[in-house]
Amino acid sequence: MAAEPKFEGWLGKGPESAQGKMEWGAFPKVKTWDEGDVDIQITHCGICGSDVHTLSSGWGPTPYPCCVGHEIVGKAVRVGKNAEKGIKVGDRVGVGAQNSSCLRPDCEECSAGLENHCTRGVNTFASPYPDGQMSYGGYADYHRCPSHFVVKIPDAIKSDEAAPMLCGGITLYSPLKNNGCGPGKKVGIVGVGGLGHYGVMFAKALGADKVVGISRKAEKKDDVLKMGADEYIATDDDPDWANHHARSLDLIVSTVSSPKMPLMEYLQLLRTKGTFIQVGAPEDKLPDMNAFAFIAKGVKFGGSAIGPPWQIEEMLKFAADKGIHSWINKYSMKDANQAIIDFNAGKPRYRFVLENEKHL
Ligand code: NAP
Ligand code: ZN
Repeated sequence: MAAEPKFEGWLGKGPESAQGKMEWGAFPKVKTWDEGDVDIQITHCGICGSDVHTLSSGWGPTPYPCCVGHEIVGKAVRVGKNAEKGIKVGDRVGVGAQNSSCLRPDCEECSAGLENHCTRGVNTFASPYPDGQMSYGGYADYHRCPSHFVVKIPDAIKSDEAAPMLCGGITLYSPLKNNGCGPGKKVGIVGVGGLGHYGVMFAKALGADKVVGISRKAEKKDDVLKMGADEYIATDDDPDWANHHARSLDLIVSTVSSPKMPLMEYLQLLRTKGTFIQVGAPEDKLPDMNAFAFIAKGVKFGGSAIGPPWQIEEMLKFAADKGIHSWINKYSMKDANQAIIDFNAGKPRYRFVLENEKHL
């Protein structure tokens, strides 16, 4: 049997950790090894907005100590004999925001390939397994994960660019695919951060007639057009943006994490029978909405959560085939606290990725 890796990482011990005050240390206890599991020696981990919501207890009390990070790529160093997908020791693999689901044949969600909606799902960090152990994320040296939620990384995608696709990428690919993004559709992406920049690139690559990046400031315009957007709206710069662009989009995906978003104005941008999908997860309630925003144009309002493993694999293949590249800024794993400080300051262009030099 392979030796137990040393499970250590950046631990958040209280809400102040979200200000870049994590401490390196051993995980209290990792999930009990199962022959369906894979141990991953981490080379890269992206920084997602969800990491900060969790470190700060912004979504509710976090079970400290926690180790966040759910955009994990590395090398499989131990593979259980019952592991799925032919994963072998030495393979370059990754894990997104989900570690486990029940996978029971009688589970409505799992049996339909909707593992991401399974009510018994386990998140990659700060989430209890059925055995009572907590999950610990990827700002770390090693990660243990059931193989069903481990994906092989295609040769064409570098590890640092693959990592943020595993949560940031799939969270936009999934609602775009599931809501008919493609020829004949005009698509808007609100909030061009880590998630949003994938939204622009994937919507374009899926063949949408028009892709519009919707951001607060003008400064991201050149980048967003380079990502493939046909148009850019800077909402802070045009007080009348919602009227100027009213009824112009069939599908909008919003990544905005602030509860103060101008939601009624975003809905104004939809055409009749349009669809608005919220993926950003504010720590407070969404703004009030007037029913006529839905009734008058017959529009739909929905949400979307990451994506199931099969769709993550589909997305990686799609990204490889279309030559989609993540826009990343790299930090050493050693500098995770500085990376969090810079993330909070809105500096990512467009996703921060921690690199673990020890394992390169
Ligand atoms: P991010 O890189 O910080 O991007 C969020 C973007 O929202 C910002 O870049 C900003 O874009 C925009 N924004 C608009 N108004 C804002 C305001 N008042 N304050 C801050 N930002 C504002 O974060 P992310 O990693 O993409 O995550 C975004 C949200 O999605 C988070 O809440 C995260 O937890 C959630 N999330 C959800 C899922 C899911 O499955 N549904 C998965 C992963 C993450 P502009 O500068 O362009 O305006
Ligand atoms: Zn995430």
